[in-house]
Amino acid sequence: MITPDKVKNYVKKAFPHFGINKQFQITRLIYETAKRERLPLENIKKDISKYEKFDCLKRYLVDRRYPGLSIDERNKKLYLPQLQINPKCETKIGKLSVSPKNIYIEESVKSSFLANRFKDKFPKAKFAIIPSIKSFIKDRKFSISDYNKRQDNFFIIRERFDFFKICPCTKSAKRCGYHIFNLGMGCVYECTYCYLQEYTNSPGIIIPANIEDFFDAFKSYKHNIRLGTGEFTDSLALDDITGFSPMLIDFFKNYPESTFEFKTKSNNIKALLLAKPSKNIVIGWSLNPQKIINQNEFYSTSLAERIKAAKDCIASGYSVAFHFDPIIYYDGWSKDYKQVVDLIFDTIPDKHIKWISLGTLRFSPVLKKIIENRFPGNTILDGELFLGFDNKMRFSDKVRYGIYENMRGWIKQRSKGPFVYTCMER
Ligand code: SF4
Repeated sequence: MITPDKVKNYVKKAFPHFGINKQFQITRLIYETAKRERLPLENIKKDISKYEKFDCLKRYLVDRRYPGLSIDERNKKLYLPQLQINPKCETKIGKLSVSPKNIYIEESVKSSFLANRFKDKFPKAKFAIIPSIKSFIKDRKFSISDYNKRQDNFFIIRERFDFFKICPCTKSAKRCGYHIFNLGMGCVYECTYCYLQEYTNSPGIIIPANIEDFFDAFKSYKHNIRLGTGEFTDSLALDDITGFSPMLIDFFKNYPESTFEFKTKSNNIKALLLAKPSKNIVIGWSLNPQKIINQNEFYSTSLAERIKAAKDCIASGYSVAFHFDPIIYYDGWSKDYKQVVDLIFDTIPDKHIKWISLGTLRFSPVLKKIIENRFPGNTILDGELFLGFDNKMRFSDKVRYGIYENMRGWIKQRSKGPFVYTCMER
């Protein structure tokens, strides 16, 4: 694998006349080209040896790095920040075992059911009572390396204000009206593209213990909405520890005008199968081809396990939903994604599928630098992503709209039933 330092040193030596900002751009373009094409630096050096002027060299490298973009896209919206990859920030993927070392409990919830569950489940952990998470964090700075160790630290807190909100979506996009039930922040899975990585100032995984206050708040909230817990965490990954799902089902069955969704990449459905289902409870799985799961969704369950869990939930009386989000574009994407669409309809009777969402990969420019630090061997950043309509890194309009048209077509060929919508799109 190409190392950033090698490229930096080469550019400094070969193009001392460029000035610092121009060197940064060329360094990044060479690094990304070599990484994407799986070539050693020597090959690229040979190819660019005839370019001396910055403009010509940059044009050559941009054309090679982004062959699918239009001239306009190449000229205006590339994001070529300084290459700053610290090998100490790499996250090591091993085997998932949720076994926190430290459990911090806010004073006001020290006797809560959740605090007691954690004491039962993790007798070897160190427990500490803290006045509040705010005062705990106050003077501390957290880094990417701390984020890599977030599973060591759990915080059981009292949520005071932030119970529900409408999904803010993204600038200039059409909202779907989803509401976020903010029951937890942080996730034990490791998805390369996860936007929670931007919260590297977070000290660990935060779970509110006062679920009854969420329920009280909902009584005076809107009642004909779609809402769910899977925005800042995976809805079910920790369900065997929190025991939240039976309480949520029991509460929301009284609000049949609303639809409550557990959004997950897990098959942690034991508690769901034991609970009494209700028609307005939907279990939604995020889906991707197994190849993408292997490369990007570490610790989550396999595609087959997700589909099997969906089947089991249907047999138990629940409705299901599927989220193709993020869809990642690569050579051969259409064959792989069509297979997943076919797998759904070959396995799941369509009358049980409430909705299917489609959303292509997008993330903030800040996340690009975090991904390349945490997952230096990633392949998702090799795609032709540039600053899109909402200033997030996206594939071109042509690629995205082609994906949506194909996916919608494959779904509609198999069933007219499920509501299909795009997420965070114009
Ligand atoms: S499952 Fe969702 S919340 Fe968890 S790491 Fe993956 S993208 Fe993030």
